[in-house]
Amino acid sequence: MYTIRYILGAALIIILAVVWNYITTSLSVRTFSRELGLKNIAATKTIVQKIDTHAHFLPPFYYDTLKRMGLDKEGPLNSMPKWNAKDHLAFMDKLGIETAILCISSPGARLPGHTLQEAGTLAREVNNFGHMMAVTYLGRLQFFASLVLPDVEGSIDEAIRALDTLEAAEGIHPTPKRGHKYVVRQTRKSGSLSPKKMEVLNSRGATIFVHPHSLPDTLNLEVPPFIVDFLLDTTRAAATLVMNNVTARFPNLKWILGHSCGFMPFAGYRIGSALSLVTGESAESFLRELRRFYVDTAVSSSPSALPSTIAFLTTEHLIFGSDYPFAPNMVIERETAQLDTFLKLELDSWHQINHRNVARVFGSRLNNRRKKLR
Ligand SMILES: [Zn+2]
Repeated sequence: MYTIRYILGAALIIILAVVWNYITTSLSVRTFSRELGLKNIAATKTIVQKIDTHAHFLPPFYYDTLKRMGLDKEGPLNSMPKWNAKDHLAFMDKLGIETAILCISSPGARLPGHTLQEAGTLAREVNNFGHMMAVTYLGRLQFFASLVLPDVEGSIDEAIRALDTLEAAEGIHPTPKRGHKYVVRQTRKSGSLSPKKMEVLNSRGATIFVHPHSLPDTLNLEVPPFIVDFLLDTTRAAATLVMNNVTARFPNLKWILGHSCGFMPFAGYRIGSALSLVTGESAESFLRELRRFYVDTAVSSSPSALPSTIAFLTTEHLIFGSDYPFAPNMVIERETAQLDTFLKLELDSWHQINHRNVARVFGSRLNNRRKKLR
């Protein structure tokens, strides 16, 4: 009797041990596989070289001009960062960034008190400096041609000069002045005044990088503009663009809006349906146009920002950006790590965001320059 009980007890213990072993092994295998998968992805990710479409430079003469005018205290942290190619390239190496496409940041080329002519001269000097950087660091540094609004005609002439005779990436960066009217309004105006010139950019499939600035109607509130106002600036630019049919009228132009286009992806459905109510046109058409935009990940890779951006625009319209040197290095490193470890991101999507989308958006010039690095 005792023997049977002993045997049954032993058998039960063995069965429980087997079941327990199966459960724990299964769990540990799954956990291990997950870790192994992540490690493999992380290892693969370090090999790929990123393209950064949201990076800034401050040519020495530009920095000196800002300082002379007392504008060097206007950076995000009440100081304008200094820039040099050597430090930038070292930081790019650290983060696995192969190519950065540079432009000047706020306050742009149209400085307070400057005439349009003076602003145009400054923009040309900035573009010539960008050309020098692109030639010196072929494939690693490129630049968006800086343009001055509201000089639409002059801007398009300068865009063509930069795209045809300088080493500019196939992209432009219009910078309005303080208290600006939106780039969009200018574009709309140009559509009526000079459609042929706009069509030149459209026919080339040029890329337009819209970087946020202080709002034209800023109230000088205590919270610095870059904390909240910048997010509204690009969101409002996107809504204004689609409301004025600019994206539909010039469908070959590609638009990159900085910092995930503020909160546009989060509020996209609301913006589309509200524009429909105001204009009587279909919400679907506005949603379709809003989804044409590309946005960058600069300081926008948080666990709450990425899901909403990807849900509205998909990973095909998301592009890596750093905001160097205006964002502190540690912030850029944190944001990049958040993008790299975002668990919902498949490896293929990660490649799209970090280089493949840019290679598709820009013309062959960018890709040819990069090939020379190999
Ligand atoms: Zn920036």
